[in-house]
Amino acid sequence: MTNLESILIVDDDASLTKVLSGELQSVGYDVQIATNGKEALEKSEKGFFELILLDWKMPGMDGLEVLKELQKKSYPGKIILMTGYADLNVAMDARRLGASDFLSKPYDIDELLITIRKVLHSE
Ligand SMILES: [Mg+2]
Repeated sequence: MTNLESILIVDDDASLTKVLSGELQSVGYDVQIATNGKEALEKSEKGFFELILLDWKMPGMDGLEVLKELQKKSYPGKIILMTGYADLNVAMDARRLGASDFLSKPYDIDELLITIRKVLHSE
């Protein structure tokens, strides 16, 4: 299978990261996982990911705090924020802090793949 872009999944929900990483790997993406914000920032410094799928609600640093740190470093990859809470303010903050898109959980894998392709191949 051809190797597609590399994606970092950041989520404190271990069963979600397990299922989602399997789904993304099965279509050819190169996937890594971080289970908290600190680990996400460490991994994003060590390697480049074309896309970071970032959970909002996490213990410790939440997704918006991670976004702020990535924005400070002018992180060149794309970011999609994921949340189980449909909150318009969070969606607006996410955009302001550089997220390309916003997805609600539970995610639909087909919709997620379409959004990933759209975000990766936009400008
Ligand atoms: Mg969470």
